Amino acid sequence: MNKQHDNINKPPHVLVITFPAQGHINPLIQFSKRLTSKGVKTTLVTTIFFLNSNFANKTNTSSEIEAISDGFDEGGLASADSPESYIKTFREVGSRSLADLIKKLQSEGTIIDAIIYDSMMTWVLEVAMEFEIKGGSFFTQACSVNMVYYHVHKGLICLPPGPTVSVPGLPQLQRWETPSFVHNYGPYPTWSEMMFNQFVNMDNARWVFANSFFQLEKEVIEWMRKMWKLKVIGPTIPSMYLDKRLEDDTDYVFNIFKPYLNECMNWLNDKPKKSVVYVSFGSLAQLESEQVEEIAWGLSDSNVNFLWVVRDEEKAKLPKEFLDTKIPKKGMVVAWCKQLDVLAHESIGCFVTHCGFNSTLEAISQGVPIVAMPQWTDQPTNAKCIEDIWGVGVTVKVNENEIVSRGNLRSCIKTIMEDERGVAIRKNAEKWRSLAKLAADEGGSSDKDIDEFVSELKHKC
Ligand code: UDP
Repeated sequence: MNKQHDNINKPPHVLVITFPAQGHINPLIQFSKRLTSKGVKTTLVTTIFFLNSNFANKTNTSSEIEAISDGFDEGGLASADSPESYIKTFREVGSRSLADLIKKLQSEGTIIDAIIYDSMMTWVLEVAMEFEIKGGSFFTQACSVNMVYYHVHKGLICLPPGPTVSVPGLPQLQRWETPSFVHNYGPYPTWSEMMFNQFVNMDNARWVFANSFFQLEKEVIEWMRKMWKLKVIGPTIPSMYLDKRLEDDTDYVFNIFKPYLNECMNWLNDKPKKSVVYVSFGSLAQLESEQVEEIAWGLSDSNVNFLWVVRDEEKAKLPKEFLDTKIPKKGMVVAWCKQLDVLAHESIGCFVTHCGFNSTLEAISQGVPIVAMPQWTDQPTNAKCIEDIWGVGVTVKVNENEIVSRGNLRSCIKTIMEDERGVAIRKNAEKWRSLAKLAADEGGSSDKDIDEFVSELKHKC
């Protein structure tokens, strides 16, 4: 067989370039698994530091794994002087390192048909274009959130925004319902600019992907499709928690911590159905000590069973009296759990969450009602969608010091667990669970978008 013919018969090959954070890397890996299941070869590329420092279950991926340098191989983002220096160095060193990787793969005879990258890493597209490889930008956050960022990028929303903000496809947003990088630009200018700049070269991307599903953000997606070749391919949660078509897809590949799996499951197993409040603020949020205390007493006053994830670095904020007296009775506190297993457990009655987009999609796909306690970045906008658009939860109000009081938390938990309104919310959550599964299942909207992409790759369009 001559070499040209050999290449025609080879499966298409995609490099998948990820930003080194748990909430960003897993959606792209999950998408890679779907591509692999449809006959595409995928090579996952992360940073040297991320690869060496995280708890990775590599048996859970069918991708090859490669690493590039972000310039901080020993300590990653935490070892940089500032986020600004990290982002700048990652762009410079990462561009060179990625170019070297592509050259290496090509010298070994590998053909790269496309490069898919986290939409925050716009420089990847520049590298891909140097090698005349097509690029696909991948949004790991909600389309609704990205549309707000797009309007800031275009100068259609000014900073600071006025009291209300209008974006096509969304109800009017109060200022505080926009992402914090918009309504509170000051503290994190580097991250804010990174979000607004996702769009600088997006018109040159061959594809744009989003971790969402069509029904969930229909109006916004239709609007975005006027600008880009948008494929909406989510929710990117392991197939065994969704459509169950990918038998080996039982877990995410990366976890920043090792979960207390058996401890959590054993504890949940003897709790009555829908009796447990699960509480988690994801992998990054740092709460004020006063806030942790209010949550502790809010849970305790609610008199419900609760499973609360408090990461080790946050643990010192827990009130001693609460640990000594309350936990043995009704609750359990762990440093990390396997969140999907918890959400899928029949004992779970509601989820108190910071509304990170992965946690939001996980709750939606398991049909778990939400008490939304957004902290920053995209979370306020996700909370708006959760309560006012999808109707799957309630947002707990903060006081003048931006703290959720124990009374407000207790009252929101009661709404979900006991009130008439909670019944309607639970029904909606069930509806969205079915729609999420339908989207991912054979012939569903996300499945079709993935098929279209694969077909374009196979036909080299
Ligand atoms: N997660 C987990 N165990 C925990 C808490 C969180 O596995 O105890 C996972 C969760 O399933 C989700 C991710 O961590 O996939 C958090 O991502 P999200 O976008 O919700 O928030 P972030 O951590 O980025 O703020």
